[in-house]
Amino acid sequence: MIKPEAMAAGHAGKILDMILQSGFRLVSLKYTQLSAQEAGKFYEVHKERPFYGELVGYMASGPVLAAILEKDNAVQDFRALIGATDPSEAAEGTIRKRFAESKAKNAVHGSDSDENAAIEGAFFFTGREQY
Ligand code: GDP
Repeated sequence: MIKPEAMAAGHAGKILDMILQSGFRLVSLKYTQLSAQEAGKFYEVHKERPFYGELVGYMASGPVLAAILEKDNAVQDFRALIGATDPSEAAEGTIRKRFAESKAKNAVHGSDSDENAAIEGAFFFTGREQY
């Protein structure tokens, strides 16, 4: 998912290009905005963390671009491409190093396991929207 602050800054095209140039195949793509309730559900695993309220408010603050991506070793390779959560710790050449504003507003989300990728994909897309 390309997060609201990166969308608002007009980085979506460049981020998507980096993703496709890195060998990921687009299975699904959607421009949408989460309600606070939907953002709360998406990030439910972080419910106990002190920044949960802030995270939910931010993720519902503007449109996002949600995608399902396919590649061998996709979860690990995508996390390598996006870089560390905090852009000040992200490696050169990563999406977050290039586009993230802060640890909170960090440009992109990537699933942390195949299991969560399936859950998060189904959150945004029906079966007929996955090709
Ligand atoms: P990720 O897997 O790299 O996205 O990182 P996490 O799973 O640890 O955190 C989920 C998301 O919560 C991050 O991508 C940030 O948008 C947000 N986040 C993480 N740490 C903080 C924080 O200290 N404050 C705020 N406001 N948001 C945070």
